Amino acid sequence: MNPERSSPQWPSGRSLVVGVVGTPIRHSLSPLLHNAAFDAMGIDWVSVAWEVAAADIERALGGMRALGIAGLSVTMPHKHSAARLVDVLSPVARVLEAVNCITWRDGKLWGDSTDGAGFVDALAHGAGFDPAGRRCLVLGAGGAARAVVHALAASGAAEVSVLNRDQGRAESAAALAGRAGRVAQGSDVSHADLVVQATPVGMQDEVQLHPLLDTGLLRAGQLAVDLVYLPERTPFLASAHAAGAQVLGGLGMLVHQASRALALWTGSSPPVQAMWDAARRHLEADPAS
Ligand code: NAP
Repeated sequence: MNPERSSPQWPSGRSLVVGVVGTPIRHSLSPLLHNAAFDAMGIDWVSVAWEVAAADIERALGGMRALGIAGLSVTMPHKHSAARLVDVLSPVARVLEAVNCITWRDGKLWGDSTDGAGFVDALAHGAGFDPAGRRCLVLGAGGAARAVVHALAASGAAEVSVLNRDQGRAESAAALAGRAGRVAQGSDVSHADLVVQATPVGMQDEVQLHPLLDTGLLRAGQLAVDLVYLPERTPFLASAHAAGAQVLGGLGMLVHQASRALALWTGSSPPVQAMWDAARRHLEADPAS
């Protein structure tokens, strides 16, 4: 299948459709990443974004079944609801009780969570960092932090500690790391090999830092990762860089979790570099998007 994607006849009656559901969704980079991959793979697939209100996710997944939509990325606020509504959950999605990727195969909806594995892929590709045997600290205990905590422990981290405002949520997230997990104190930042900023603090025009983070404890020899990718250089990453730490933004996780979703949908290995290039071109052309 080598569609002429620039032709007025494309997409056609034979095109396979995937997409992303969430609200708000118009800012989503997922269709851009998916379509860049389909272009590079030369396959007749197309990705679009659907604005789906919280109350409508069950009907949306009914539509996925009826229309034979090959795959859906799932974003806020639907990740938990989707985990209840799919037919089969992957082991990771079952533990997290969250789904960010649905595949329509053999008449069933298969739910998976690719955020954590995408994060670990991004560490390897973007910073050459392997969590095995390392001490990791995660700021935040929401959906993204939980996926990261679970994936770091699954990758063999020696310790995964969670620093969060709400202690109950910190305990719940730390429990996902099993024996390696614990609730962190602010002073633990200085001992960590990897510090992950997994809250929305620093997004868009925000200039503040996480209220529990003492930036004086960041140091050379650490890797500091922000899951926020807009702006590219967040206040957290700027502080970590000034302290001599290695820094990594959130775009890599976005690209790699999408790449894992595409692998599930197409059964092929996606062209990560083409996806990365498309995201960078887009953000450089329109950094406010
Ligand atoms: P979420 O489920 O709403 O969780 C938010 C977490 O951030 C909670 O732990 C909350 O703490 C904490 N938080 C929020 N505002 C805070 C503040 N002002 N000070 C301190 N802590 C604060 O959100 P999420 O889905 O985990 O997403 C978190 C961030 O990761 C978002 O910016 C999202 O865009 C980003 N993300 C990026 C990727 C990627 O691919 N790069 C993927 C997923 C998410 P409490 O529990 O104390 O309220």
